[in-house]
Amino acid sequence: MFDRHRRLRKNQAIRSMVRETILTPDDFIYPIFVVEGENIKKEISSLPNNYHFSIDRLDEIIKEVVDCKVKGIILFGIPEHKDEVGSDAYDDNGIIQKAIRKIKELAPELYVITDVCMCEYTSHGHCGIICGHDVDNDKTLEYLAKIAVSHAKAGADMIAPSDMMDGRIDAIREGLDENEFKDIPIMSYSAKYCSAFYGPFREAADSAPQFGDRKTYQMDPGNIREAMLEIQSDIEEGADIIMVKPALSYLDVIRWAKDRCDMPVAAYSVSGEYAMVKAAAKMGLIDEKRIALEMLLSIKRAGADMIITYYALDAAKWIK
Ligand SMILES: [Zn+2]
Repeated sequence: MFDRHRRLRKNQAIRSMVRETILTPDDFIYPIFVVEGENIKKEISSLPNNYHFSIDRLDEIIKEVVDCKVKGIILFGIPEHKDEVGSDAYDDNGIIQKAIRKIKELAPELYVITDVCMCEYTSHGHCGIICGHDVDNDKTLEYLAKIAVSHAKAGADMIAPSDMMDGRIDAIREGLDENEFKDIPIMSYSAKYCSAFYGPFREAADSAPQFGDRKTYQMDPGNIREAMLEIQSDIEEGADIIMVKPALSYLDVIRWAKDRCDMPVAAYSVSGEYAMVKAAAKMGLIDEKRIALEMLLSIKRAGADMIITYYALDAAKWIK
Protein backbone atom coordinates (compact mmCIF):
# COMPACT_ATOMS: atom_id res chain seq x y z
CA MET A 1 0.00 0.00 0.00
CA PHE A 2 1.37 3.41 -0.97
CA ASP A 3 0.00 6.88 -1.73
CA ARG A 4 -0.96 7.68 -5.33
CA HIS A 5 -0.04 11.38 -5.64
CA ARG A 6 -0.32 11.18 -9.40
CA ARG A 7 -4.14 10.86 -9.18
CA LEU A 8 -4.42 14.62 -8.80
CA ARG A 9 -2.06 15.34 -11.70
CA LYS A 10 -4.04 13.39 -14.27
CA ASN A 11 -5.23 16.28 -16.44
CA GLN A 12 -5.21 20.06 -16.75
CA ALA A 13 -8.57 20.47 -15.05
CA ILE A 14 -7.64 18.73 -11.81
CA ARG A 15 -4.15 20.22 -11.82
CA SER A 16 -5.61 23.71 -11.98
CA MET A 17 -8.06 22.90 -9.19
CA VAL A 18 -5.36 21.77 -6.78
CA ARG A 19 -2.84 24.47 -7.69
CA GLU A 20 -1.77 26.28 -4.53
CA THR A 21 -0.13 29.41 -5.93
CA ILE A 22 -1.41 31.43 -8.88
CA LEU A 23 0.08 34.60 -10.34
CA THR A 24 -2.18 37.55 -11.16
CA PRO A 25 -1.36 41.06 -12.42
CA ASP A 26 -2.24 42.26 -8.89
CA ASP A 27 0.99 40.65 -7.69
CA PHE A 28 3.25 42.89 -9.74
CA ILE A 29 4.78 46.33 -9.35
CA TYR A 30 6.56 47.75 -12.39
CA PRO A 31 9.71 49.90 -12.06
CA ILE A 32 9.88 52.97 -14.29
CA PHE A 33 12.97 55.14 -14.89
CA VAL A 34 12.44 58.81 -15.60
CA VAL A 35 15.01 61.22 -17.04
CA GLU A 36 15.13 64.95 -17.72
CA GLY A 37 14.85 66.10 -21.32
CA GLU A 38 12.32 65.91 -24.11
CA ASN A 39 11.05 63.18 -26.37
CA ILE A 40 13.26 60.51 -24.83
CA LYS A 41 12.46 56.80 -24.91
CA LYS A 42 15.83 55.13 -24.78
CA GLU A 43 16.34 51.45 -24.13
CA ILE A 44 18.53 50.69 -21.12
CA SER A 45 21.24 48.46 -22.54
CA SER A 46 21.70 46.49 -19.31
CA LEU A 47 17.93 45.96 -18.99
CA PRO A 48 16.58 44.99 -22.43
CA ASN A 49 13.01 46.13 -23.11
CA ASN A 50 13.16 48.67 -20.25
CA TYR A 51 13.55 52.35 -21.07
CA HIS A 52 14.51 55.75 -19.83
CA PHE A 53 11.50 57.98 -20.38
CA SER A 54 11.36 61.74 -20.38
CA ILE A 55 8.21 63.08 -18.75
CA ASP A 56 6.56 63.98 -22.07
CA ARG A 57 6.89 60.34 -23.20
CA LEU A 58 5.49 58.74 -20.04
CA ASP A 59 2.00 58.54 -21.51
CA GLU A 60 2.73 55.46 -23.63
CA ILE A 61 4.25 53.38 -20.83
CA ILE A 62 1.58 54.44 -18.34
CA LYS A 63 -1.11 53.39 -20.82
CA GLU A 64 0.60 50.03 -21.24
CA VAL A 65 0.75 49.48 -17.47
CA VAL A 66 -2.94 50.31 -17.09
CA ASP A 67 -3.89 48.12 -20.08
CA CYS A 68 -1.98 45.20 -18.53
CA LYS A 69 -4.00 45.66 -15.32
CA VAL A 70 -0.84 46.12 -13.27
CA LYS A 71 -1.96 48.31 -10.38
CA GLY A 72 1.29 49.76 -9.11
CA ILE A 73 4.54 51.26 -10.33
CA ILE A 74 7.73 52.24 -8.54
CA LEU A 75 9.55 55.31 -9.80
CA PHE A 76 13.27 55.95 -10.10
CA GLY A 77 14.58 59.31 -11.23
CA ILE A 78 17.81 60.21 -12.95
CA PRO A 79 18.42 63.91 -12.38
CA GLU A 80 20.45 66.19 -14.62
CA HIS A 81 22.25 67.68 -11.68
CA LYS A 82 24.07 65.72 -8.96
CA ASP A 83 25.76 67.16 -5.90
CA GLU A 84 27.16 66.14 -2.52
CA VAL A 85 23.77 66.23 -0.78
CA GLY A 86 21.57 65.07 -3.66
CA SER A 87 19.54 68.26 -3.60
CA ASP A 88 17.49 67.34 -6.68
CA ALA A 89 16.01 64.48 -4.69
CA TYR A 90 13.99 66.82 -2.44
CA ASP A 91 13.43 69.63 -4.93
CA ASP A 92 9.69 70.11 -5.48
CA ASN A 93 10.55 70.50 -9.16
CA GLY A 94 12.90 67.51 -9.23
CA ILE A 95 12.54 64.78 -11.81
CA ILE A 96 10.50 62.44 -9.59
CA GLN A 97 8.20 65.16 -8.30
CA LYS A 98 7.42 66.26 -11.87
CA ALA A 99 6.93 62.64 -12.96
CA ILE A 100 4.49 61.91 -10.13
CA ARG A 101 2.36 64.92 -11.02
CA LYS A 102 2.33 63.90 -14.69
CA ILE A 103 1.41 60.28 -13.94
CA LYS A 104 -1.38 61.32 -11.57
CA GLU A 105 -2.73 63.46 -14.40
CA LEU A 106 -2.51 60.57 -16.90
CA ALA A 107 -3.84 57.80 -14.64
CA PRO A 108 -5.12 58.98 -11.26
CA GLU A 109 -6.01 55.42 -10.22
CA LEU A 110 -2.53 53.98 -10.83
CA TYR A 111 -0.75 53.40 -7.52
CA VAL A 112 2.49 55.37 -7.50
CA ILE A 113 5.26 54.21 -5.18
CA THR A 114 8.46 56.22 -5.02
CA ASP A 115 11.90 54.93 -4.22
CA VAL A 116 13.46 57.15 -1.59
CA CYS A 117 17.25 57.13 -1.71
CA MET A 118 20.07 59.47 -2.53
CA CYS A 119 22.42 57.41 -4.70
CA GLU A 120 20.92 58.54 -8.01
CA TYR A 121 21.25 62.16 -6.88
CA THR A 122 24.63 62.36 -5.15
CA SER A 123 27.85 63.10 -7.01
CA HIS A 124 29.59 60.31 -5.06
CA GLY A 125 26.84 57.75 -5.76
CA HIS A 126 26.36 56.70 -2.14
CA CYS A 127 22.96 56.40 -0.48
CA GLY A 128 23.47 59.24 2.00
CA ILE A 129 25.56 62.15 3.20
CA ILE A 130 29.28 61.39 3.24
CA CYS A 131 31.42 62.19 6.27
CA GLY A 132 35.04 61.14 5.84
CA HIS A 133 34.91 57.88 3.89
CA ASP A 134 31.54 56.60 4.98
CA VAL A 135 27.89 57.56 4.96
CA ASP A 136 26.83 59.51 8.06
CA ASN A 137 23.72 57.72 9.29
CA ASP A 138 22.05 60.40 11.39
CA LYS A 139 22.76 63.28 9.04
CA THR A 140 21.25 61.27 6.18
CA LEU A 141 17.98 60.77 8.07
CA GLU A 142 16.86 64.39 7.83
CA TYR A 143 17.45 64.34 4.07
CA LEU A 144 15.48 61.12 3.63
CA ALA A 145 12.54 62.64 5.50
CA LYS A 146 12.70 65.74 3.29
CA ILE A 147 12.73 63.60 0.14
CA ALA A 148 9.76 61.55 1.34
CA VAL A 149 7.72 64.64 2.19
CA SER A 150 8.38 66.20 -1.21
CA HIS A 151 7.28 62.98 -2.94
CA ALA A 152 4.09 62.92 -0.87
CA LYS A 153 3.44 66.59 -1.69
CA ALA A 154 3.75 65.77 -5.39
CA GLY A 155 1.10 63.06 -4.99
CA ALA A 156 2.92 59.78 -4.32
CA ASP A 157 0.69 57.05 -2.88
CA MET A 158 3.44 55.22 -1.02
CA ILE A 159 7.03 55.89 0.01
CA ALA A 160 9.68 53.18 -0.29
CA PRO A 161 13.02 53.98 1.36
CA SER A 162 15.88 51.85 0.04
CA ASP A 163 18.91 53.47 1.68
CA MET A 164 19.35 51.06 4.65
CA MET A 165 20.17 53.76 7.22
CA ASP A 166 19.24 52.91 10.80
CA GLY A 167 16.21 54.86 12.01
CA ARG A 168 15.00 55.97 8.57
CA ILE A 169 11.47 54.64 8.96
CA ASP A 170 11.12 56.55 12.21
CA ALA A 171 12.48 59.73 10.60
CA ILE A 172 10.33 59.42 7.48
CA ARG A 173 7.18 58.57 9.44
CA GLU A 174 7.70 61.61 11.63
CA GLY A 175 8.33 63.82 8.59
CA LEU A 176 5.19 62.59 6.83
CA ASP A 177 3.02 62.89 9.95
CA GLU A 178 4.18 66.42 10.69
CA ASN A 179 3.27 67.42 7.15
CA GLU A 180 -0.24 66.01 7.18
CA PHE A 181 0.66 62.85 5.32
CA LYS A 182 -0.42 60.48 8.10
CA ASP A 183 -2.21 58.29 5.56
CA ILE A 184 0.77 57.74 3.27
CA PRO A 185 2.15 54.23 3.92
CA ILE A 186 5.80 53.25 3.98
CA MET A 187 7.13 50.18 2.21
CA SER A 188 10.54 49.60 3.68
CA TYR A 189 13.41 47.92 1.88
CA SER A 190 14.02 46.16 5.20
CA ALA A 191 16.30 43.30 4.29
CA LYS A 192 18.33 44.74 1.46
CA TYR A 193 21.44 42.72 0.82
CA CYS A 194 24.72 43.99 -0.56
CA SER A 195 24.28 42.04 -3.78
CA ALA A 196 26.04 41.61 -7.10
CA PHE A 197 22.57 41.17 -8.63
CA TYR A 198 22.15 44.97 -8.66
CA GLY A 199 24.76 45.39 -11.40
CA PRO A 200 22.49 46.22 -14.37
CA PHE A 201 20.40 48.66 -12.27
CA ARG A 202 23.43 50.82 -11.57
CA GLU A 203 23.75 51.51 -15.26
CA ALA A 204 20.01 52.09 -15.52
CA ALA A 205 19.98 54.57 -12.64
CA ASP A 206 23.52 55.88 -13.04
CA SER A 207 24.05 55.22 -9.33
CA ALA A 208 27.30 53.28 -8.99
CA PRO A 209 29.32 54.48 -5.97
CA GLN A 210 32.35 56.50 -7.05
CA PHE A 211 34.47 55.08 -4.23
CA GLY A 212 34.22 52.13 -1.86
CA ASP A 213 31.09 49.96 -1.70
CA ARG A 214 27.81 49.74 0.21
CA LYS A 215 28.85 47.07 2.68
CA THR A 216 28.62 49.39 5.70
CA TYR A 217 24.90 49.86 5.19
CA GLN A 218 23.54 47.00 3.06
CA MET A 219 23.33 43.53 4.58
CA ASP A 220 25.81 40.69 4.31
CA PRO A 221 24.38 37.95 2.05
CA GLY A 222 25.27 35.28 4.61
CA ASN A 223 22.90 36.60 7.26
CA ILE A 224 19.27 35.75 7.94
CA ARG A 225 18.88 36.43 11.69
CA GLU A 226 20.09 39.93 10.98
CA ALA A 227 17.29 40.29 8.44
CA MET A 228 14.79 39.70 11.23
CA LEU A 229 16.43 42.41 13.33
CA GLU A 230 16.18 44.85 10.44
CA ILE A 231 12.55 43.89 9.81
CA GLN A 232 11.62 44.14 13.50
CA SER A 233 13.16 47.61 13.76
CA ASP A 234 11.26 48.76 10.69
CA ILE A 235 7.97 47.41 12.04
CA GLU A 236 8.53 49.08 15.40
CA GLU A 237 9.37 52.34 13.66
CA GLY A 238 6.14 52.25 11.66
CA ALA A 239 6.67 50.45 8.34
CA ASP A 240 3.46 49.24 6.69
CA ILE A 241 5.04 46.77 4.28
CA ILE A 242 8.44 45.14 4.57
CA MET A 243 10.60 44.12 1.65
CA VAL A 244 13.28 41.57 0.88
CA LYS A 245 15.74 42.42 -1.92
CA PRO A 246 16.95 40.66 -4.07
CA ALA A 247 14.34 37.89 -4.39
CA LEU A 248 15.52 34.76 -6.15
CA SER A 249 18.63 34.04 -4.06
CA TYR A 250 16.78 35.09 -0.88
CA LEU A 251 13.60 33.00 -1.01
CA ASP A 252 14.46 31.64 2.44
CA VAL A 253 14.49 35.18 3.81
CA ILE A 254 11.09 35.89 2.23
CA ARG A 255 9.67 32.76 3.84
CA TRP A 256 11.20 33.67 7.22
CA ALA A 257 9.71 37.13 7.04
CA LYS A 258 6.32 35.79 5.99
CA ASP A 259 6.18 33.25 8.83
CA ARG A 260 7.25 35.68 11.53
CA CYS A 261 5.56 38.98 10.64
CA ASP A 262 1.85 39.67 10.37
CA MET A 263 2.45 42.21 7.68
CA PRO A 264 2.51 42.25 3.87
CA VAL A 265 5.86 41.17 2.47
CA ALA A 266 7.19 42.60 -0.79
CA ALA A 267 10.04 41.11 -2.80
CA TYR A 268 12.17 42.93 -5.33
CA SER A 269 13.24 40.68 -8.18
CA VAL A 270 16.21 42.80 -9.17
CA SER A 271 17.92 43.78 -12.39
CA GLY A 272 20.47 40.94 -12.35
CA GLU A 273 17.73 38.32 -12.03
CA TYR A 274 16.00 39.80 -15.06
CA ALA A 275 19.13 40.36 -17.12
CA MET A 276 20.33 36.77 -16.65
CA VAL A 277 17.09 35.38 -18.03
CA LYS A 278 17.12 37.84 -20.91
CA ALA A 279 20.70 36.94 -21.81
CA ALA A 280 20.14 33.20 -21.60
CA ALA A 281 16.96 33.51 -23.68
CA LYS A 282 18.80 35.52 -26.32
CA MET A 283 21.35 32.73 -26.57
CA GLY A 284 18.53 30.23 -27.07
CA LEU A 285 19.39 28.37 -23.86
CA ILE A 286 16.04 28.69 -22.11
CA ASP A 287 12.35 29.36 -22.66
CA GLU A 288 12.09 32.95 -21.42
CA LYS A 289 8.37 32.99 -20.74
CA ARG A 290 8.31 29.73 -18.77
CA ILE A 291 11.46 30.58 -16.81
CA ALA A 292 10.28 34.10 -15.93
CA LEU A 293 6.85 32.90 -14.80
CA GLU A 294 8.37 30.06 -12.77
CA MET A 295 10.72 32.53 -11.06
CA LEU A 296 7.86 34.84 -10.19
CA LEU A 297 5.74 31.93 -9.00
CA SER A 298 8.53 30.75 -6.71
CA ILE A 299 8.85 34.22 -5.19
CA LYS A 300 5.12 34.31 -4.50
CA ARG A 301 5.14 30.74 -3.16
CA ALA A 302 7.97 31.70 -0.81
CA GLY A 303 5.61 34.25 0.72
CA ALA A 304 5.77 37.50 -1.23
CA ASP A 305 2.45 39.37 -1.33
CA MET A 306 3.77 41.65 -4.06
CA ILE A 307 6.71 41.48 -6.43
CA ILE A 308 8.59 44.37 -7.94
CA THR A 309 9.76 43.02 -11.29
CA TYR A 310 10.98 44.19 -14.69
CA TYR A 311 8.82 41.35 -16.04
CA ALA A 312 5.63 42.88 -14.62
CA LEU A 313 4.12 43.86 -17.96
CA ASP A 314 5.25 40.78 -19.88
CA ALA A 315 4.09 38.47 -17.09
CA ALA A 316 0.73 40.22 -16.85
CA LYS A 317 0.25 39.67 -20.61
CA TRP A 318 1.46 36.07 -20.49
CA ILE A 319 -0.92 34.99 -17.73
CA LYS A 320 -3.99 36.64 -19.27
ZN1 LIG B 1 20.72 54.07 -2.83
